[in-house]
Amino acid sequence: MLIRNAEILGRPADLRCRAGRITEIAPAIQAEPGETEIDARGGALVPGLHDHHVHLLALAAGFASIPCGPPEVESHATFARVLADARPVSGWIRGTGYFESVAGPLDRKGLDALQPRHPLRIQHRSGSMWFLNSAAIRRLDLDAGPRLPGIERDRRGRATGRLFRMDDWLRKRLPIHATPDLRPVGRRLASFGVTRLTDATPSNGATELDLFRRAQAEGALPQRLRLMGDLSLPIGAPSAFLEVAEYKILLDEPSLPDLEELTRRIAVAHEHERTVALHAVTRTEIHFALAALEAAGPLPGDRLEHASVAPIEARNTIQRLGIRIVTQPHFISERGDAYLASVSSRDLPHLYLLRSWLEAGVRVHAGTDAPFGGADPWLAMRAATKRRTRSGGILGIGERVEAEAALALFSEAPSSAAMEGTAAGALRVGRIADLCLLDAPWKDVREDLAGDHVALTVCDGEIIWRRGP
Ligand SMILES: [Zn+2]
Repeated sequence: MLIRNAEILGRPADLRCRAGRITEIAPAIQAEPGETEIDARGGALVPGLHDHHVHLLALAAGFASIPCGPPEVESHATFARVLADARPVSGWIRGTGYFESVAGPLDRKGLDALQPRHPLRIQHRSGSMWFLNSAAIRRLDLDAGPRLPGIERDRRGRATGRLFRMDDWLRKRLPIHATPDLRPVGRRLASFGVTRLTDATPSNGATELDLFRRAQAEGALPQRLRLMGDLSLPIGAPSAFLEVAEYKILLDEPSLPDLEELTRRIAVAHEHERTVALHAVTRTEIHFALAALEAAGPLPGDRLEHASVAPIEARNTIQRLGIRIVTQPHFISERGDAYLASVSSRDLPHLYLLRSWLEAGVRVHAGTDAPFGGADPWLAMRAATKRRTRSGGILGIGERVEAEAALALFSEAPSSAAMEGTAAGALRVGRIADLCLLDAPWKDVREDLAGDHVALTVCDGEIIWRRGP
């Protein structure tokens, strides 16, 4: 493939790739017979993006769900239509975001009238309730089933179709291999220029490894994937596209594990040359994670996910131990107003740091945490440069970074060198051909960092997404 008239590292250049590698970069390259030619029209060519923290199956489940509340669904008529048209995935129809303004309180009878055939579950917008139709109740054997306080029943003891705080219980009763289709996810992420993903789901094991390998082989997931997960994952790289990554440990402040036990688990991973990634959001969780990492002795590549509130002592320890940080700048824009209203003034100055990390020489990557955040990395880059909340507030103005540093957060190997403005540092002859072609020169793109500048995405020398027909 030959990409002509591109801007590479600020200069006009052509780029050729062959067999998945960049083989030539020069001012003017002669096309060869039969070669795919792409005219970049002066657009910047940058390395394909790496979303360093994402949850693919949850994202796919979200894609496979029907929105059942505002803004997509506002009226009873629309609600009835979307339920009638819905197609089951792995035997179930799954709805999300229901709110009473749409069609009042829901129960099995009301839902049967709208969708009598397929098992249907709809989650309330608050996340605390599920509504089921009779087909779902039969599938779960609920009428006969357990008398649990979260399962509402009528006077005769029949399930009403309303479940309260029963997520775990419900999940365990749904088909285990109800694998959502990864194709829409792969395509959507490719449209943002993403060519590599790190899935940070702690429960990933051999089943998921297999599932992702198949999705890649079938072309459903065209990106390279690093798969975090539990200790059962076999170490190593099954292919150039799939790699077993960190042992993921979730810390949850109300129920922290025993410190010695956590230290031992980290040490076991390290003995097998497996790095670890600790989910740490609060002050306490970060201190706890660092205490365990220090006791176990860190391995290069160990990382903290989120590190949302990082006071000075924690920063110093992170720097000293050489721990990487994987942050989510777009939470500033998506949740910033709630942070400003609810995070204590003691924690606010330490919230989602960025410039501080880079200036301290800490290696920082960024991930979208989709579906818990939006999946568009360009929104995260923009938030990293602006620190603006939805309502226009500013959070941590001193933590803003330049557009080049923001882009580097989503590149393969960001470092403090990213501060020097090497937006396309990885585009060199011999490197893998994972590329993102933008529709304008970098000096224009850097002004708005909008995802719709992405014109073409290339992974392993193959086009995986192209804008327009
Ligand atoms: Zn996450």
